[in-house]
Amino acid sequence: MRLRSKIHLYSSVLFAILLIVMNLATYYMFNKLSVNNQIDRVEAQTLQIANGMRQAAGKIPTQDLLRGYVPVDGMIRMIGPDGTSLAPVTSGSQQDLSKRKAIYDTSARVQVDQRYVMVSIPVIWSDGEVMNVQVTESMQGTMDTLQVLRVVLIVVTCIALIPVLFSIRLLGRVIMNPISAMTLTMKEIRRSGRFNRLVLEGQSKDELMEMGMTFNDMIELLENNYKSQEQFVSNASHELKTPLTIIESYANLLKRRGLDRPELFNESIEAIHSEAIRMKEMTEQLLLLAKHKEQWNISMETLNLSELAMGSAKAFRNAYGREIHVDGQQEVFGYSDENKLKQLLFIFLDNAQKYSEDRILVEVGSLEGEGYIRIVDRGIGIASDKLPLVFDRFYRVDEARNRQGGGVGLGLSLAIEIAEAIGVRIELHSAEGVGTTAEIWIQREVSKIS
Ligand code: ADP
Repeated sequence: MRLRSKIHLYSSVLFAILLIVMNLATYYMFNKLSVNNQIDRVEAQTLQIANGMRQAAGKIPTQDLLRGYVPVDGMIRMIGPDGTSLAPVTSGSQQDLSKRKAIYDTSARVQVDQRYVMVSIPVIWSDGEVMNVQVTESMQGTMDTLQVLRVVLIVVTCIALIPVLFSIRLLGRVIMNPISAMTLTMKEIRRSGRFNRLVLEGQSKDELMEMGMTFNDMIELLENNYKSQEQFVSNASHELKTPLTIIESYANLLKRRGLDRPELFNESIEAIHSEAIRMKEMTEQLLLLAKHKEQWNISMETLNLSELAMGSAKAFRNAYGREIHVDGQQEVFGYSDENKLKQLLFIFLDNAQKYSEDRILVEVGSLEGEGYIRIVDRGIGIASDKLPLVFDRFYRVDEARNRQGGGVGLGLSLAIEIAEAIGVRIELHSAEGVGTTAEIWIQREVSKIS
């Protein structure tokens, strides 16, 4: 069953039950009150008649007395101890009552049935005998009133249900419209592949509006993710296309003229080899960027930053044959992941060796509770307007210049991701033609600070 129908059904049934129970209670109370009222009234009336008759006994003939006291809608009679009734006197409409069996009671008695109230009171008569004065009155009036009440309550219940049903319908619409709109938008997104937003009308700040806004935020996030994913894939394929084209053209060259011109062999193999290395590096970086940080297996520990910087510098010195000088305090500690911090250092050292010719300086120290490693080069530097862009994926300041250097523009964006994952801060300062300084700021573990 649809949610809208469920809201209608459950709310309507609940309201109907509530109304019926309320009206039944009202009817029951009123019924009881009316019947009790009539019994009280007939009792009081019978007592009054009995007193009057006792006083007038012997002076006025009993039959006349009975005729004088006969109720408007009922019967009055006197019953002797032997059960004989003096000719009962009935009102015009209740002549059938005289056929009722006369029963003598030794004490006062009240009898109520569906249609009549009967009250019997013993009275000492003029001849010393104890007689019963018995008054019977029809309940027709009370029953008629109750009948009217029944009709009124039924009509009122039905009338009251109409606005209730309307308001439930309205409530269902208020709740369901945003949900239906959301479902429709989702279907539309699935069908068209476009990231549509919900149209949110009104100023209300209720939960449904909040749900709509959250939905739109989510769609925006998805769209942004999708766009950057798309951008990433197209950038990656574009970047891979160039080395592949170079490899293909050199392979073609070798195929066509490799045997006739052996001098082409070395050049081709060199180019194919370097492009293959570039592609391998790029694929590795791409894979790391594509991985979720949870899969990076970060293990945080206290590290000797001086040792780490010296180790990395040595490895670099050996690999590239560049002069790298490490400067700074001996005992600087930082709390981070060793492998990832090394990787970060390599990214900056790699950039320093790619974009400078001079000696590279690595400084290790601490300032205001933080350890730092600084990589300083005196190379080509980065123009200040380009500096904020170098952290973007695939961004290279000068594409033509970098092509020979080998960079693909992924190093610094990877550095940002790594820094975030291992809880360090990175800063890049640069001046075009002067050089670049990359800083890694690492929290020191409190227990190790002496
Ligand atoms: P790449 O692999 O191209 O070096 P990065 O993301 O590491 O990619 O760097 C982006 C761009 O920033 C580089 O292409 C380069 O133009 C510039 N850059 C980074 N580091 C330096 C540096 N030390 N000196 C000069 N330019 C730099």
